[in-house]
Amino acid sequence: PEEEDWREKRLALIRRYEAAEKREDFIKEEKITEILARTADPPRAAVAEVLSKARELHGLNPEEAAVLLNCRDAEVWEEIFATARQIKEAVYGNRIVLFAPLYISSPCVNNCAYCGFRHTNAAVNKRTLTAEELAAEVRILTQNGHKRLIVVYGEHPVSDIDFMCRTIEKIYATKNGRGEIRRVNVNAAPLTVAEYRQLKEVGIGTYQVFQETYHHETYRKMHPANTLKGSYRWRLFALHRAMEAGIDDVAIGVLFGLYDWRFEVLGLICHALDLEREFGVGPHTISFPRLEPALNTPVASAPPYPVSDADFKKVIAVLRCAVPYTGLILTCRERPTLRREVIPLGVSQTDAGSRIAVGGYAQMAREHIPDRQQFQLGDTRSLDEFIRELCEDGYIPSFCTAGYRAGRTGCHFMSFAKKGLVKNFCLPNAVLTFKEYLLDYATPATREIGEKTIAAYVERFAQQMPQRAAVLKEMLTRMEAGERD
Ligand code: SAM
Ligand code: SF4
Repeated sequence: PEEEDWREKRLALIRRYEAAEKREDFIKEEKITEILARTADPPRAAVAEVLSKARELHGLNPEEAAVLLNCRDAEVWEEIFATARQIKEAVYGNRIVLFAPLYISSPCVNNCAYCGFRHTNAAVNKRTLTAEELAAEVRILTQNGHKRLIVVYGEHPVSDIDFMCRTIEKIYATKNGRGEIRRVNVNAAPLTVAEYRQLKEVGIGTYQVFQETYHHETYRKMHPANTLKGSYRWRLFALHRAMEAGIDDVAIGVLFGLYDWRFEVLGLICHALDLEREFGVGPHTISFPRLEPALNTPVASAPPYPVSDADFKKVIAVLRCAVPYTGLILTCRERPTLRREVIPLGVSQTDAGSRIAVGGYAQMAREHIPDRQQFQLGDTRSLDEFIRELCEDGYIPSFCTAGYRAGRTGCHFMSFAKKGLVKNFCLPNAVLTFKEYLLDYATPATREIGEKTIAAYVERFAQQMPQRAAVLKEMLTRMEAGERD
């Protein structure tokens, strides 16, 4: 009865919001469909023109992005991929930011057709971490070297706003010798402005809400009408409310496989443009999860609009061209070989060593805990193993959160990024946090290749910016002598 009472109150709140919210819906389905039809099978010259605009790093409008999405020529796609790689290199350099998901509570009052945690799915055992269990999970993550988390909650009275605030405070307070979590991002249900303010108070990083699908009819099919998640508009403006509450960094996403991927990419771009129009700053990151199988969940095992690996690459490349200053997040949903292939196309952040069952890190030894997971992961390698591969591929893994502490969030980050400073300031910071990882957490094999990666970077940096490189070298030496961030 308590759960039902809470759900009813929340539903009434959403209904009041729906009646009062006057903002115009920025997803115009007919317009998106018309743009896609108008730009079908574009000539090479049209694609070339869009690519040359993309290289100016001012982003693309939906029409321009549609020209790329509609390209059918494999040779021309190679040019699109090459442009995406160039843009990634120009804005982010070879830095990849690493984080881990932390599932805190899985009970959920919603019934999303694709999710293992849905209310009526009795096959998945749902639970909530106790304070002690939460601290234990955080300690395992920090012992492995993690500094950034995304915490995940189902929508349920056990994980209401007060619970969220308490658990986030607990994470920041859980120290482990030198290890500590420095940035907690959140993936949870849409909230009211007042609730977002509470989260800002406890110092969260980014707030993520994925629209799942921008296509109204598909949204209705996947999210039953009488559930909290059944309101498309409550969700569509979730991040507008977060920004109104003063949360600088918000993150959008689509669950690919529910509807046509070309339509969804344009939906993401429209969403990003609307946030930019209203708040002067677009989303901090975009996520593009694909549906993964989940226990007793037929929609997840047989997606209505499956996205092939080849099309998944196109999604990433077009997003990189269209929103050059927005971070792109790849997750461990994808298999190791594919992750390696798509990172160069524009990914700036990814998770590693992840577990997505509530209490999953304490049970690391067991590869899969199907009866507690939201869905199945494609990459269960350790953080160390993944970092080794990144180094082999020439990347600098970063645990850096310095930018956030220096106030480089929201529109500050955008203006910083637009001046091309991410490369010059974030890369040296990335190197320092990576050095810390190598000294404190890495296996000997990873340390060996990691040190070579750092040495090669410092040498290149010395040629471009000798004075800053000298400072960096001195800081690296001080770290070897025991100093830390
Ligand atoms: N309950 C909150 C919500 O739905 O917004 C936040 C957490 S939910 C656990 C996080 C995300 O997982 C969802 O937004 C959805 O995109 C993704 N997800 C759900 N089921 C999935 C599946 N079978 N495969 C891949 N991703 C899935
Ligand atoms: Fe609940 Fe989120 Fe899963 Fe939907 S996706 S059932 S809201 S946990």
